[in-house]
Amino acid sequence: SSESPALKLVVVGHVDHGKSTLIGRLLHDTGSLPDGKAEAVIRMSERRGMPVEWAFVLDALQAERDQGITIDTTQIFFNTDKRNYVIIDAPGHTEFLKNMVSGAALSDAALLVIDAKEGMQEQSRRHGYILHLLGVRQVAVVINKMDLVDYREERYQELTGEIRKYLSGLGLEAAAIVPVSAREGQGLVAAPDKMSWYAGPHLVEVLDGFSPPVLPTDRPLRLPVQDVYKFDDRRIIAGRIESGRIRTGDRILISPSNKSVTVKSIESWNTPSPALSASAGQSVGITLSEQLFIERGQVISHEANPPIESNVFRARIFWLGRKPLEVGKRYKLKLATNEQMVDVQSIETVIDVENLTSAAGDKLERNGIGEITLRARAMLALDEFSENPKTGRFVLVDEYDTVGGGIIFMEGYPDQRSS
Ligand code: GDP
Repeated sequence: SSESPALKLVVVGHVDHGKSTLIGRLLHDTGSLPDGKAEAVIRMSERRGMPVEWAFVLDALQAERDQGITIDTTQIFFNTDKRNYVIIDAPGHTEFLKNMVSGAALSDAALLVIDAKEGMQEQSRRHGYILHLLGVRQVAVVINKMDLVDYREERYQELTGEIRKYLSGLGLEAAAIVPVSAREGQGLVAAPDKMSWYAGPHLVEVLDGFSPPVLPTDRPLRLPVQDVYKFDDRRIIAGRIESGRIRTGDRILISPSNKSVTVKSIESWNTPSPALSASAGQSVGITLSEQLFIERGQVISHEANPPIESNVFRARIFWLGRKPLEVGKRYKLKLATNEQMVDVQSIETVIDVENLTSAAGDKLERNGIGEITLRARAMLALDEFSENPKTGRFVLVDEYDTVGGGIIFMEGYPDQRSS
């Protein structure tokens, strides 16, 4: 229904395997395109003397954005009878991988698109691996361009075996492997009449079968402190609630200083009177029962469910830097509102995405993935990614460039909270 939040979907796969075409066609076939868009795409294709090129839908939507009608440049909305979806990154977008690892794109589910004729390619494997690294657990595979292999079941079976083997090596299981032709509109919103041998669900059935997103409201409270404003004798602590809910009178914990205090009031910026409670997604200012030293970068939680405190942690990282990541190098860590310098203490493994092997190494090259240990001088408040994706991920910055994105695992590093 339209009340529940949209399911965030990311569409990945090798270049030219048909991601844009699939999205364009899906938007059209689910009746999600604005008036006139389909006609524009058909005219544009005719003018170029080609079959209808559904990938143009993305260009047409982009053109609309350029005129300032839609604000967000990376979100594409569509809906089925069951619910709303938002595709949170456009394929081919140069910032795509960076967005995925830096947390700009946190998806609830993913579609991995594979060309029926070409089969899995290096990028398909790499993207599959990144989904695994990012903890995206709901994945469906779309075998596209079935028209190019005459809709043959043998080809589908052959690819299916290969794909399942690859995914199970990652500990992932595809919700389904759906044969389609995005260009011909086979298998997207109805059973594919050209593939009567296929008894599985069509694409929209698979999408509608995904579990709804876990609302950040249902996770423990995390309010990273953004700013502290002083008015006369009052101090207002400002920030965005990343998860959970906060109420006046709550006993809260400030991490990493590990002090507890009571919430006196909650000021919401856009309502005139103080609120009794606020929840994930809201930006708030709170006042406390006593004056504590609080600064940007600290995290507010409830005593019963605090973040981890440690100055050393393990992470899986995707490296984007031109210069390799090396043991002993120092980078700026950005974790929620916290920014501080960290040293690369060790690189446990460098992962070869093509062969899915991991080996010890002392550096991580651009586009490489590895498991590393980072050490900061001071304590940090952090979460394991699996516990809280919002506060369990970080980026590394070198000078002014984002050079890596990672997710946190504590593995072997205990909480160092002092009692
Ligand atoms: P992307 O790079 O993954 O976004 O791929 P595109 O959507 O741009 O498609 C790449 C090319 O494959 C285009 O020329 C499409 O027309 C073509 N293509 C996409 N889907 C199909 C399909 O189902 N069948 C055939 N024959 N061609 C397709």
